[in-house]
Amino acid sequence: MDPSQYPGGAPPAGAVGAVPGQGPPPQGQPYPQGPGAPANYGAMNPSETKGEAGKLPGGQAAPTPSAPSLNEMDNVGGYENVGFSDNCLPPPSYDESVQPPTERPEIKGVDVVNEDQAREALMMYVAEHCCYGKGAAETMKFTQLQPTNAFHYTLETFCESRSTAWAFEPFCGESLTPPANGPAPGPWDITPSPGPTMFQDGKMDLEVPHTASVKACHNCCASGWIQCNKCFGLGREQCTFCNGRGCSRQYIDGDWVDRSCTSCNGRGMRTCHRCHGCGRITCTLCDGKTRLKCYIKLTILWVNHVNDHIVERTELPDHLIREVTGHQAFQETAPRVFPVNHFPDPEINAASKRIVGSHAGAFPTERMLMQRHQVRIVPVTQAFFNWKEKDSDFFIYGFENKVFAPKYPQTCCWGCTIL
Ligand SMILES: [Zn+2]
Ligand SMILES: [Zn+2]
Ligand SMILES: [Zn+2]
Repeated sequence: MDPSQYPGGAPPAGAVGAVPGQGPPPQGQPYPQGPGAPANYGAMNPSETKGEAGKLPGGQAAPTPSAPSLNEMDNVGGYENVGFSDNCLPPPSYDESVQPPTERPEIKGVDVVNEDQAREALMMYVAEHCCYGKGAAETMKFTQLQPTNAFHYTLETFCESRSTAWAFEPFCGESLTPPANGPAPGPWDITPSPGPTMFQDGKMDLEVPHTASVKACHNCCASGWIQCNKCFGLGREQCTFCNGRGCSRQYIDGDWVDRSCTSCNGRGMRTCHRCHGCGRITCTLCDGKTRLKCYIKLTILWVNHVNDHIVERTELPDHLIREVTGHQAFQETAPRVFPVNHFPDPEINAASKRIVGSHAGAFPTERMLMQRHQVRIVPVTQAFFNWKEKDSDFFIYGFENKVFAPKYPQTCCWGCTIL
């Protein structure tokens, strides 16, 4: 943290944010302005290279452009290592014990489709495929409708993570809660309002109370203006129409002649459109307010981690089960769920045990807020049929009675020819 270890405030060679050939100015001299100024000036502070717990390896530029000098930031108790990029903060330890529930929701059964429903579903499927022939669907003889159930287990683990970083914004004269008014609360002691929507991803940025202070804007030396970076302060720029020549060559009556440029009236230069001729623009960092409010920003991220397992024992591709509705046989929500151990299919119980176990230690930098798991039972019927002396089959699945019929006998190629 001690700037004196690098005379003049210059970072060591290869330090974070170093710009080749552009060291900071000698102490006591103003910060450079305009296009010559390094974009990440403040991040060149040596203390930035030490903090951040290795988040900024040597040579990698800090992500925040033109941040103020870290040395100027107030010393906020509990936030000594905060830099200008997000610093992830693992949660303090908390109770992670899991108890088997004394009572669990019972598991309910499912329905099966009959021949009429199977045929109707297939007719709908054929109608969606413009060149499929509907004759087969209308006249096929069902030889067997084999009902089965697919089981879809899903575990959601809803977690929160927190990180802090110094932030700054134009100061508009609002009242602050400076460090002198009291100690800053710890990053995990702050309660967000409104709180998260359970099992939905979200993000919230908060100002940590008692960390704010006002600093003179270093980007414009508190003037509110910086040199125009389009015309470099000249107020004029080269005419783009004639490329500064003042005239343009035109073909008139079979001859090439030079005509005075109508865009710049022959001057070759035009008034700079960015600064309207005054050579300076409003400081982009303080928005012309001349001062910056610096504070520690707490970023809260909510992430819903989802993993699932499908038990489906026919030729129907398993992933199709995710896309349809079924019967919710079981659902349980708890801070820590206990693996399902009472489902009639042991593969689901094993998958639940495996997935619950894998989530238990998977998010060490996050605080687990809630877990929810469920088993859906999705009906799958394999319909065996005979059409024109040939045996084949198709599948009907989900409450939507969706059809999977890759072997439908009357598709475009030869279906069209026999109609
Ligand atoms: Zn011109
Ligand atoms: Zn300009
Ligand atoms: Zn400024």
